[in-house]
Amino acid sequence: ALPSRLAYAIAAQARRAPASPALREPDRGDIGYGDLWHAIESVAGQLRALGVRPGDRVMAVGENCANLVALIFATGLCDAWIVNVNARLSAREIASIREHSGARRVFYTADISPDARAHGERDGAVPAQAPFGQWLVGAVNDDCAPEPVHADGALQPAALIYTTGTTGQPKGVLLSHRTLLYVATVSGRLRGLVPTDRAYGVLPIAHVYGLASVMLGTLNAGACLVLAPRFSAPALLRALREERLTILQGVPAMYARVLEQLGPDASPLPNSLRFAYAGGSPLTPGLKAAVERLLGVALHNGYGMTESGPTICQTDLAAPRNDTSVGHPIPGVAVRVVDAAGADVPVGEPGEIRVRGPNVMLGYYRDPALTAATMHPGGWLNTGDMGRLGPDGALFIVGRTKELIIRSGFNVYPLEVETVLNAHPAVTQSAVVGRTCGDGNEEVIAFVEAAPRHAADPAALVAELTTYLGGALAPYKCPAHIVVLPALPAAATGKILKGRLRDLAMQPL
Ligand code: ATP
Ligand code: MG
Repeated sequence: ALPSRLAYAIAAQARRAPASPALREPDRGDIGYGDLWHAIESVAGQLRALGVRPGDRVMAVGENCANLVALIFATGLCDAWIVNVNARLSAREIASIREHSGARRVFYTADISPDARAHGERDGAVPAQAPFGQWLVGAVNDDCAPEPVHADGALQPAALIYTTGTTGQPKGVLLSHRTLLYVATVSGRLRGLVPTDRAYGVLPIAHVYGLASVMLGTLNAGACLVLAPRFSAPALLRALREERLTILQGVPAMYARVLEQLGPDASPLPNSLRFAYAGGSPLTPGLKAAVERLLGVALHNGYGMTESGPTICQTDLAAPRNDTSVGHPIPGVAVRVVDAAGADVPVGEPGEIRVRGPNVMLGYYRDPALTAATMHPGGWLNTGDMGRLGPDGALFIVGRTKELIIRSGFNVYPLEVETVLNAHPAVTQSAVVGRTCGDGNEEVIAFVEAAPRHAADPAALVAELTTYLGGALAPYKCPAHIVVLPALPAAATGKILKGRLRDLAMQPL
């Protein structure tokens, strides 16, 4: 049986092996499970003393650090909901989440993050003792009424997580203790996690992938989470050399940066990894092969979304693949690929992905209309993604439903064009969007971030890529414009913010 609160998973590890390392912070060294559990209890006391009641929202603005981990567990122990946002968001984005969530208290994990400190100081937060150093605490917002508390504590929301905002405004997703612990337990089991494992905790804990899969998955298994406040290729390379990491979970953009840092002739890196994972955005065959060559282990793929806590599918550790499938649904979770009428499409045909299982969210906070439109009768969640099933039942992601471009009556999947573009050695990453032209038809627009060696002459690169794409894709799939940018706009998880690119595409190119 799963514990009824996230924090009880830590309590169990503290009873089992109090001295066993739970967290490792760059400048602090190891924190054992016993000390982490004490920190959680002491923060829970601090929260209650600050007036936090069950059903209140507690917001954290921060980057990965031990204080943030303790605050997340302590909030759930008080039956309040954690609203975790990355310190790299703008002041406007943070204010809008604070407003929408109705947070009663805001914590800024200022110790390790200059961005969090700047936000806290601007918001008039005051320094207070944190279990591991200091944080800034913002004033109470008395207008925020607590939400009703669920009779079954495990079904109480543990986290209110805002989606990345790739397709529009971030949406507030409610995930229960049970959902987060289910995903952490199952994905930990699929990874064969044991207490001697050491996982790299660089994906933002403010995002569901970093929270449920990496942070909670690792700690629930009694393993050690090596915290990194934010990603940099040199820091990751150092951690691989010095931290005896056995598990590396990242996003494709992170692996692309590491390869770029090492250059095209990099020799394989000695390391103690058992395997590596990518997820959160599409993995291309070239990137997968290059990472596997560099690290000497399989690069697994996983698919999920905030609304599904996050994991839906992941590839099987025992059966590494040589394609970019995201694998089979995790145990207890069912996936369907359907047409517009909701009927299953034949194997191999693209359709919309629906998912059902204990990983699915409680709903969108303060948005019953969107919740009803997304969660269908029978418990099926519409992912808004398109996929196709392979003959062995493994899922392939085809792209997002909303991003489908219809060009002269033909479907253009941006992911297909991006995959071809990313395979070109001069391209670090790319993003393809549609632009409506005067006649209602759509044009394909490609944005490209060039590898440093090729960035000097964008016009030459555009000419080269135009010829290259012409040889690789049907004419209706070829971009009307290719735009070279110094960097593509990205969220803290490395996801490319396509909404911003769509706005850019509306301007004269
Ligand atoms: P928003 O919903 O606000 O527009 P978002 O969907 O990017 O933002 P997340 O919940 O962080 O917010 O991301 C989930 C999405 O990421 C999925 O719906 C899917 O489109 C994409 N995704 C996740 N994993 C993969 C993967 N392995 N391959 C391809 N796409 C993936
Ligand atoms: Mg989404």
